[in-house]
Amino acid sequence: MRFHVAQLLKEGIGATRSYEVHEADVVVTDDGSRSLVEGTLGLLRTKSGILARAILRLHYPEVCSRCLTPIEVPLELHIEEEYQPTVDVLTGTASPRPEDPSAFLIDEHHVLDLIEAVRQYRVLAAPMQPLCRPDCAGLCPVCGQNLNESPCACPRDEYDPRWSALAKLAQGESRDG
Ligand SMILES: [Zn+2]
Ligand SMILES: [Zn+2]
Repeated sequence: MRFHVAQLLKEGIGATRSYEVHEADVVVTDDGSRSLVEGTLGLLRTKSGILARAILRLHYPEVCSRCLTPIEVPLELHIEEEYQPTVDVLTGTASPRPEDPSAFLIDEHHVLDLIEAVRQYRVLAAPMQPLCRPDCAGLCPVCGQNLNESPCACPRDEYDPRWSALAKLAQGESRDG
């Protein structure tokens, strides 16, 4: 996820680069699990730094929020961030720190590293409750049987849909009153 941008920094505003991204074993989550990251990256020299625009696809390991089966969650990230240089590429002197402390930085060796942006965008894009499939039946709350595999013998509190209609009516009345 590291791109050497010294030459691009030396070129004028509006200079561009484009890359195909195909990196295995990228650590994308806090627990250190690894992912294949693929897609495209465009870099644009701006007045103050480099604008990075990437469309990246990755799969990262999760567990289904209902049945706890290990799954891979596919994500497509659309990254757009401006990276600020920490060292002036022509003079070698330190550049002024950006006002925004969370700004993405190009390091002192003129390397732009996308990984932190990938991690942050992944957190934002990740589903809160990942599912192994949309209709996952989950685990029996009594015996823990995975109900996708087979039903269990535990008694069910049968839910009568007529009651839910009544409950809706009651709610509507209390709201109107
Ligand atoms: Zn599931
Ligand atoms: Zn059960």
